[in-house]
Amino acid sequence: MAAQKERVVVIGSGWAGYSLGYGIDHRKYDVTLISPENTSAVTPLLASAACGLFDPRLAHEPLRRRDFHAKYIKATVVDIDFDSQTLICQLAFEELKDERFNVEYDKVILVPGCRSNTFGIPGVAENAIFVKNVANANAVRSRLNDILEMASLPGTSEDRQRQLLHVAIVGGGPTGIEVAAELTDLFDGDVGVLFPHLKGKASVSVYDVAPQILAPFDQKLAEYACTALKTGKVNVKTNTHILKVTPNTIETQEDGATGYGMLIWATGNKSVPLIDQLNLRKTDKGLVRILTDDHLNTFAPDGTVLPNVFALGDAGDIEGGTLPTTAEVAIQKADYIINLLNKNVKTPFEYKQRSLVTYTGKWDGVVQGKREYTGYGAWLSWRSGNFFWTRSWRRKILMGYAWFMDWLDGREIIRN
Ligand SMILES: Cc1cc2nc3c(=O)[nH]c(=O)nc-3n(C[C@H](O)[C@H](O)[C@H](O)COP(=O)(O)OP(=O)(O)OC[C@H]3O[C@@H](n4cnc5c(N)ncnc54)[C@H](O)[C@@H]3O)c2cc1C
Repeated sequence: MAAQKERVVVIGSGWAGYSLGYGIDHRKYDVTLISPENTSAVTPLLASAACGLFDPRLAHEPLRRRDFHAKYIKATVVDIDFDSQTLICQLAFEELKDERFNVEYDKVILVPGCRSNTFGIPGVAENAIFVKNVANANAVRSRLNDILEMASLPGTSEDRQRQLLHVAIVGGGPTGIEVAAELTDLFDGDVGVLFPHLKGKASVSVYDVAPQILAPFDQKLAEYACTALKTGKVNVKTNTHILKVTPNTIETQEDGATGYGMLIWATGNKSVPLIDQLNLRKTDKGLVRILTDDHLNTFAPDGTVLPNVFALGDAGDIEGGTLPTTAEVAIQKADYIINLLNKNVKTPFEYKQRSLVTYTGKWDGVVQGKREYTGYGAWLSWRSGNFFWTRSWRRKILMGYAWFMDWLDGREIIRN
């Protein structure tokens, strides 16, 4: 009789989970992936998808693919019994959400990511649109359509039009800045053509509590980006504290209440409930993450290493060697685990920093890496980077086709 394969369970279907499910050798291990989502969001594409550069469906990859061999279960893991090596899961269907079941494992890999943090600011959860997944990108597109059509209704005053067409973005990190850049391109381009009566009435503001936008970048590049955005008429409001949000106003300590038609929340991360629940050693400041050693093994609260429990992606961090919550880190750590399991490679994990790229609108951007540059070349790097992030040839072809159609016939934003 053939020996039973070791059971490896991956919790989460994001950047790390997808790579693990794809890469762990299914001939050697019995691999199961558990996640409430049966697709994996290609997060760097969400800002462009939200603003009509291509269909949001291109910004996620299905787990049900011919060449994806891990078993998939649509459920949320709510707890783990580390002694009996059992996961307690809850089905992720509205009508079956009370049903629980157990899954046993030999090795478990924790990659449930993190969720948006509203920092307890009143009104944010109810009124803001987040930018975390494809459903959010669709929500941005849908709201854009609504505000453009509302502003076009006969008898709408110019003040009301300007309020409806004011998009407030909270968060001056790469995501917030790329949404702002894409929106200004859209307002100056296709919206001006399709809604000539609204020309010059749309505006975009970016709010950040920090003194400078794009914190991961050098000051010089961040300043360049800020100037580029202001030239594109984005209202950049740094050192600004949000006090509360209502369905149509955002109130800051510095400026009081300002009207908006759409509020996008692109800042702040907090741990998912499973991470809060688990009795493992965790970070004690900022985002709560599970601490690991440099082989990505977790620790029991008394400091004992758990050799069959791994944590990575946004939910895990190496003790004494903090890395940012990025797809780049998640993918490199997933590749490390794949080599460890498939080839028994046991050298410690080492992160290789790749270039940071952000689009700032009007074919301009900033790149920080071995070489720092801005302008058209940076835009080109950012655009070609979209191909790098896309995870299948099918989506690469569809994206190329979408860009060609945008160039030929304008963005699809109004034709949802
Ligand atoms: C708009 C946007 C743009 C970004 N752009 C970039 C970029 O350009 N470059 C870059 O390097 N990084 C970027 N990032 C950051 C990057 O997306 C994250 O660092 C990355 O997604 C982390 O991967 P992960 O696998 O840890 O978690 P995630 O990708 O967040 O996936 C977590 C998965 O776990 C599932 N899950 C959660 N709880 C449970 C549970 N209890 N049980 C089972 N499953 C669960 C979730 O449903 C999800 O499928 C961006 C992020 C956003 C939001």
